[in-house]
Amino acid sequence: MLRFDVLTLFPDMISPVLGQSILKRAQEKGLLDVRVHNLRDFTEDRHKTADDLPYGGGAGMVMKAEPIFRAIDALTEETQADGDEMRLLFPTPHGRPFSQDYARRLAEERRRMVILCGHYEGVDERVRTALSPEEVSVGDYVLTGGELPALILIDAAARLVPGVLGDPDSLIEESFSDSLLEYPHYTRPVEVRGLGVPEVLLSGHHEVIRLWRRKQALCSTYLRRPDLLRDRVLTSEDRRLLDELISEGVSTVSMRSGEEG
Ligand code: SAM
Repeated sequence: MLRFDVLTLFPDMISPVLGQSILKRAQEKGLLDVRVHNLRDFTEDRHKTADDLPYGGGAGMVMKAEPIFRAIDALTEETQADGDEMRLLFPTPHGRPFSQDYARRLAEERRRMVILCGHYEGVDERVRTALSPEEVSVGDYVLTGGELPALILIDAAARLVPGVLGDPDSLIEESFSDSLLEYPHYTRPVEVRGLGVPEVLLSGHHEVIRLWRRKQALCSTYLRRPDLLRDRVLTSEDRRLLDELISEGVSTVSMRSGEEG
């Protein structure tokens, strides 16, 4: 079972999302356990003050260190009492980029993962100094808080836990599973607003469909994310499909694929 504890000043940014769809079912099946803790419950004054003005002046508020230390102390105690270990994750734009590989490693984690959500201008630096959390970034942009990144981490990891997705085959060929982007999907009806489905997908020839999809995946990756193909050791089949794409003129192939299959 994958276990997350999320520390946040805004539990309602997290809990409703966990109560929907696949994440909800994962929890019902006992494959995922997420507990959301309100950092205000760990404040010391009657106003439940969790943030304050920055020393030295400047814009915005800074999250106070002590409520975070108290929350971590409480979780550490609980974890030790259960005979478990803890891994502390801190979403921040300064962190290591999150990726599918990163998600895979989280999905295999047996320790309890605590996610500390910063908000406002961020967190008192002494939290970082004292706790040395694992810093992870969800991209080179700035969000209002760590709550959305926390959900991204939980979602990306949870769907890789065996049994969470209805059809485990969904994981086999999806984007990044093999450092490639995925091929395109179509569903009924066969024509929508004058747009058809590639003939090959209606043919029933499994091997031909497999090759077409592989070629589309290579094509999409070559056009959109050529960096993923760099340094990749290609199988002879991929090499042949890629050579075909290049000799056909990749951009026109991607446009023509809908017509010719
Ligand atoms: N002042 C900070 C800076 O310039 O780096 C940004 C603080 S941001 C407004 C508030 C919180 O959102 C951060 O403490 C972090 O927890 C979270 N956050 C914002 N962008 C993020 C990103 N790209 N990846 C992960 N966490 C992020």
